[in-house]
Amino acid sequence: MGILIRLMKQTFSRVVFVAWVVATTAVAVFAGDQKCSGTARECDQQIRQFLSGKRFLGATIDDKNPGLVIKSVAPNGPAENAGLLPGDRLIACNSKSLTHATSRDFKQLLADARATGELRFIVWRRGVYKRIRATLEPYSKEQLDKIIDAHLSQSHPSSAGAH
Ligand SMILES: [Zn+2]
Repeated sequence: MGILIRLMKQTFSRVVFVAWVVATTAVAVFAGDQKCSGTARECDQQIRQFLSGKRFLGATIDDKNPGLVIKSVAPNGPAENAGLLPGDRLIACNSKSLTHATSRDFKQLLADARATGELRFIVWRRGVYKRIRATLEPYSKEQLDKIIDAHLSQSHPSSAGAH
């Protein structure tokens, strides 16, 4: 339980939001973490352990201050599968208005929805309101592999793809 663990914890607390909300278009997730001091194998295990069972939406959100707009959706992630599209303005979710919400509010909303994973959105798309029902899902093995590959190629260049 040395410095690695502490570093990972710091990194992870920063990454949790990313993990739930923003996640998984690979590269972005653990990008910026250059100070990783563990071996590739340790990181692989810890990242896998940390994220397995966690649910995510698979969308990046633009904080328009005020308001939130979908910036991108991860391929085959819950957001894409639900039909959310980049450019959708989030009007409400689970009966909470989001027209003046910040990304912090949205993070809280996702945390509140964790028990059921159910998200009932109203979005504004090209002049029309749409109802979209999304469900937070656990990371698949494929998505975990992508995140880990991205981390390894960022912070352990010599061992990327070795696991
Ligand atoms: Zn690492």
